[in-house]
Amino acid sequence: MTDYDAIVVGAGHNGLTAAAVLQRAGLRTLCLEANTYAGGMAATVELIDGFRYEIAGSVQFPTASQITKELGLDTLPTVDPAVMSTNIGESGEEPMIFYRDPMQLMTHLDERHGLEAVTGMAELIGWSHGPAKALGRFDVRQPPKTLDEMYACAANEAERRAIHEMLFGSAMDVIDRLLPDKDKHAVMCGMLAFLAVNSTYRGPYTPGSATCLAFALAIPQDNTGGTAMMTKLDE
Ligand SMILES: Cc1cc2nc3c(=O)[nH]c(=O)nc-3n(C[C@H](O)[C@H](O)[C@H](O)COP(=O)(O)OP(=O)(O)OC[C@H]3O[C@@H](n4cnc5c(N)ncnc54)[C@H](O)[C@@H]3O)c2cc1C
Repeated sequence: MTDYDAIVVGAGHNGLTAAAVLQRAGLRTLCLEANTYAGGMAATVELIDGFRYEIAGSVQFPTASQITKELGLDTLPTVDPAVMSTNIGESGEEPMIFYRDPMQLMTHLDERHGLEAVTGMAELIGWSHGPAKALGRFDVRQPPKTLDEMYACAANEAERRAIHEMLFGSAMDVIDRLLPDKDKHAVMCGMLAFLAVNSTYRGPYTPGSATCLAFALAIPQDNTGGTAMMTKLDE
């Protein structure tokens, strides 16, 4: 114990970030990991000789530009594939292709899933504005907000309702309301519901899981175009 000032348990990206911050602050830091590789769920690992697999996370969501710079993420090579992910449904259902370019995504939704899918997605992105502010999604070095501070972020009644829903509602409350056609939008709903699963490891009907939608769909206010888009690190 006397050899270290701080011990971080787990070398997922949050543990690695904590360890890097502590070490840079001058603390002798030890980062422990149970696995044989670092990166946790965000790791890419050669599971079979010659074949590298993403353990789970593959897409880099928009990050506050200050954090991007401080962690040196802007120095890492990235690839910008046209398609970020594809969700396939049952036989005969249109796949949901998540194009990186928002215009291409909306055109795909319009042509393959119908106008309601476009308006539903646009409303979802609009819904995320108030909750993203309340979460402090792009804040840097700010303590978590109290509930009162979160509600105070609302610019209007719609944002206040969205913040309330983010805190106490489930991802499916929001998805079902904005994309109500269960047959036509099944594949799209599945893709959005997954956002709740991959962030909380709980189901999309879990109260509070609407937070994951706000996290994933939020766009930085200083967005100058490309920075708001998702990307992939080139490993
Ligand atoms: C299927 C799936 C897809 C996802 N896709 C994306 C995506 O595209 N983009 C995105 O941004 N996020 C994605 N996520 C979410 C993302 O992977 C997680 O939010 C992120 O990995 C969390 O990082 P973490 O460091 O907090 O925890 P983890 O990545 O879970 O890391 C925790 C680490 O701690 C270690 N550990 C735990 N207990 C101990 C112990 N007692 N001793 C030593 N070590 C220990 C574990 O082995 C692990 O390495 C996805 C998640 C899943 C499940």
